[in-house]
Amino acid sequence: MGINILWDQQAPGGIELPVVRMIAMILGQEPGLVEYPFLIDGYDRNRNQHDAQKILDRLQDTITRRYTISGPLLLVTSRDLYVNGCDFVFGLARPACGVAVVSTARLGNDYYGRMPDDADLIDRTAKEGAHELGHLLRLAHCENPECVMFQPRTYDELDRKKKMLCPVCREALASRREG
Ligand SMILES: [Zn+2]
Ligand SMILES: [Zn+2]
Repeated sequence: MGINILWDQQAPGGIELPVVRMIAMILGQEPGLVEYPFLIDGYDRNRNQHDAQKILDRLQDTITRRYTISGPLLLVTSRDLYVNGCDFVFGLARPACGVAVVSTARLGNDYYGRMPDDADLIDRTAKEGAHELGHLLRLAHCENPECVMFQPRTYDELDRKKKMLCPVCREALASRREG
C-alpha cells in the first residue's frame, strides 16, 4: 500500500517532484503524486484561515467515496491552517482515517520577511510533509529536536530539524512495516 500526495492547484508549483523525492528519502518509500481538482473547505473569514479539521473531513470523504486512492494520503495546500485552540498549525494528520494536510503558508522565507528561496521551501515542505505522513504510518511525536517527528512550534524549531528520522523513529517505522 503506497503513500500518496495530492498537490492543491494553488500550492506553490514546480516544487512537487523535489518535495516527493525528499520525502521518499526521509521515509524510505516513494509517494505517488495524485492530481484531482480538490475543493478546500473550512474557510474562516474572521481568521482568514482554513480549519484543518474540515479539510480532513472532505479529504476523507473524497478518498473513501469518490476515488479509489488506497493508502495514506497527504494534501499539500498553500492555505493557512488552524485548529480550534491553536493560532495556526503547520499541518494535521488523522491516522485512523489515513488522511493528512500540510500547509506551505508559513514555510516560505517570504512569510518571515526574508528573501524567497525555493530550496528552503522544498526542505520545509518535505520535512513537514514527511512528519504528517509519518503520523499516518503510525509514528508518534519524537523528543529529539533534530528528528522529522519532532513537533515544531516555531519556524526556528522547524529549521533545526534535519531531513531524516532519528534512529529510534526509523526503527519504529521498520517494525511497523514488518508487522
Ligand atoms: Zn505531529
Ligand atoms: Zn525520532
